[in-house]
Amino acid sequence: MDLSIVIPIYNEEDNIRALYERLCGVVGPMHLRYEFIFVNDGSKDRSLALVQELASHDERVRYIDFSRNFGHQIAVTAGLDLSVGEAVVIIDADLQDPPELIVPLYQKLQQGHEVVYAKRRTRQGESVAKKFTAKLFYRILARITNISIPVDTGDFRIISRKVVDALKLMPEQSKFIRGQISWIGYRQTYVEYDRAERAGGETGYTYSKMIKLALDGITAFSDAPLKAATISGFIVSGVAFLVLLYTLYSRFVTKEYEPGWPSLMTSILFLGGVQLIAVGIIGEYISRLSANVRQRPLYIISDTNITRKTQQPTKE
Ligand code: UDP
Ligand code: MG
Repeated sequence: MDLSIVIPIYNEEDNIRALYERLCGVVGPMHLRYEFIFVNDGSKDRSLALVQELASHDERVRYIDFSRNFGHQIAVTAGLDLSVGEAVVIIDADLQDPPELIVPLYQKLQQGHEVVYAKRRTRQGESVAKKFTAKLFYRILARITNISIPVDTGDFRIISRKVVDALKLMPEQSKFIRGQISWIGYRQTYVEYDRAERAGGETGYTYSKMIKLALDGITAFSDAPLKAATISGFIVSGVAFLVLLYTLYSRFVTKEYEPGWPSLMTSILFLGGVQLIAVGIIGEYISRLSANVRQRPLYIISDTNITRKTQQPTKE
């Protein structure tokens, strides 16, 4: 098998047919042995039926049906786990990632790279808030992590079998695949593209899912927030100490002071706030630690037409 194409699906009934046709139009002329792996991530619409319908006519269509919604990153992970292609493309189902780009991605991979990611030059049809938060997030992440995670890049990319195998060695529960791929290293390069509007349907990425992804990315690849908590602790206690000195000075030396509670209140509230933030940051890390300690399987498959023996994520 030369190429596997992994497509996470969450309520994409409006796009599946069009996506399949465009993919066939692109990959067909490349003269490769290929497969599509549709991962149905607990869709509530007719997505699964549509994929099964495609699979009944085209044996290159494989599908994995999850028992519930496990999230985009987990869906991609499952697709990678069960893929066998020498190269694997990860692509969204909503046609925001143009299938036509697979040709240059594949060419660059053949020129001796292990990862070729698709970098968004522009993005259309997304709210100003989403574009702004995404831009900000990628830049903060780039600053505070010690691996170089490319900015303005989603999961749309092609990776070689070597990279898939390396990903399978990374057992973390909170997946941030684009970060993990940067961490893995090898020769990586990119192709630029203009991100289109969603073809049909609505985004499955709610704000809470985006916040979770952002926190997963940060906590998995950076300890900067923990250090920031420590540093702010030092700064606040330093300031508090100076205020203490000043209070003693005005109380006993100049004897010019305002008796009362405003300063007391402010310092208590301020300290309380800083402490809560610090505890919250620690909590974010601990919750991920405990998820990893629990060692649950990442996902549960309720149905699939993939029969060959592939390595499921194993638990030793
Ligand atoms: N998706 C998924 N599970 C989810 C949410 C989204 O598998 O819980 C899929 C979705 O079907 C699409 C891809 O992930 O193929 C990207 O999602 P979406 O287009 O909603 O995100 P956006 O482009 O708005 O960031
Ligand atoms: Mg999308």
